[in-house]
Parts: sequence; structure tokens; C-alpha cells
Amino acid sequence: MTKITNPFEIYKLLPQTNCGECTLPNCLAFAAAVIKGSKRPADCPYIRSEDREQLADRIGIRQDFNRIRGEDLETLKSRVSRIDFSEKADLLGARVVSDKLAIKSLGKDFFIDAEGNVTSECHTHAWMTVPLLSYIVQSSGAEITGRWVPFRELKDGSPMNPLFVQRGEKPLRKLIDSNSELLGDLMSMFSGARPDSNLFASDITISLYPFPKVPILICYWSPEGDLDSDLNIFFDASAEKHLKIESLFSLGVGLVMMFEKIALKHR
Ligand code: SF4
Repeated sequence: MTKITNPFEIYKLLPQTNCGECTLPNCLAFAAAVIKGSKRPADCPYIRSEDREQLADRIGIRQDFNRIRGEDLETLKSRVSRIDFSEKADLLGARVVSDKLAIKSLGKDFFIDAEGNVTSECHTHAWMTVPLLSYIVQSSGAEITGRWVPFRELKDGSPMNPLFVQRGEKPLRKLIDSNSELLGDLMSMFSGARPDSNLFASDITISLYPFPKVPILICYWSPEGDLDSDLNIFFDASAEKHLKIESLFSLGVGLVMMFEKIALKHR
């Protein structure tokens, strides 16, 4: 039986909800940890039992695999607790409110206390917590360049791009194919989201601000004649100065999963 040494083979079998119950920030980090040997497939309570058994026989531990790794939630919280919010707020495009760091995400305020706990004025999405804390810890404060680049053109994006297309861009394209009003609905739902003028000759273009200095641009091209529709998600060229590629991946895919849930609710 062929041994699995590629974490994406494991990732495909995970629910990809980034729930954090395995104590890692996301499913991709878990898949990497399984390959490294620091986690077992059984440590994810949601993996199907038949997949778990099959994986147990097929995993070839790759000790040198360390590129895809994430910090766990507790490590991130502890790093956040050592940050002086008043010194870093400006760099993050945030502000300090009653000793808490207030960061706008998709137009809503999220509050981070001195222990790294996150609360918000709306429902807190579990997938958002790790990228948000990572943004606080990792961001260099670089300014937005205004130059949009696809995920694959980010410095470390190329190896993860096929999965980003599969988990992020394709499902979002299908969602908009079947619900052409969706992007308009998202714009009215998230203040800060705005239409952009016909960038890349796309039919619909909107920009969103998951974090103040990490904008995302979604471009959708409608089907025409024999041509299928197309969709690309772009990041600002400075994105990796604010988040590592794993967190950008989680952020993009997490957003798409949230849009899917919104579309389901509004159907
Ligand atoms: S427990 Fe870990 S691997 Fe399993 S779904 Fe949650 S985050 Fe993903």
C-alpha cells in the first residue's frame, strides 16, 4: 500500500471546519502534524472511522516536514498577552477601547483582551479566531500597496494554490453561479465591502476587509457562450507581511465557508 507523505492527502479527508478541537489552529496544521508524527488521525474526533483506520496504515512520517505548521491557540494567546496594545494598535489599523484591542473585521468590531480572548459584537466565528490572533502577533504593520495578486503569486502561495483553488475559488464560483445576488447581499451585510470598478475586466468585483490591512478582492466573470464562469480571489501584495501563508489560506477558505452558510440561510 502506498504511503502518504503529503499532508494534503490527509487534509482532503478532514471536515475542514478548523474547529480547533485537536488543539491545533486549523485542519491543515493538523494534517501536517499527522505527517510529522506529533498527532494521530484519531486525534481529530470528526474524521470518519473508515478513513481513520485506513490512514493509520498508510501514513509515512516525514520528519523533515515543517513548512506547514501553525501555532496552537494557547500559544497564540500567550504571545498576544505579551503585546503592548497601545504600542501596536496603530500598526494594525486597530484602536484600544477599555484596555482591549478593537479590530474591525468585515465591518464588525472584534475585541481582544489582555489574555488573548476574543469577543465580538456579532457571532464569533471559530475559524476567525486563529487568523485574527495571528494578525496581531505576525503583522509588521506594512501599508496596503493597492496591488492585487492571486494566491499563487504570493511568495509561499504556489505549493498550496491547487488546494486553495479547490477549497476556496471553485466552491465560491459555483455558489455565485447558482446565486447571482450573493455578492450584492454580502456587500450590504458587511460594511466596508465595496464594489470595485471592473478590475481585470470582471463582471462583478468586490473588496472585503477581513482585517484592516488584509483586504481581499473577489472577481467573478459570468459564463459567456461556451465559456464557463470564472472566479479569482486576490490578496494585496503586502498580505504576507501581515499573515503567514497558512493563515491566509485559512482566512480565504474560511470566508468562503462562511459565505456558503450565509447563502444556505438566505435561500
Ligand atoms: S479537530 Fe482539528 S482536524 Fe479535526 S476538524 Fe477540528 S481543526 Fe480540523
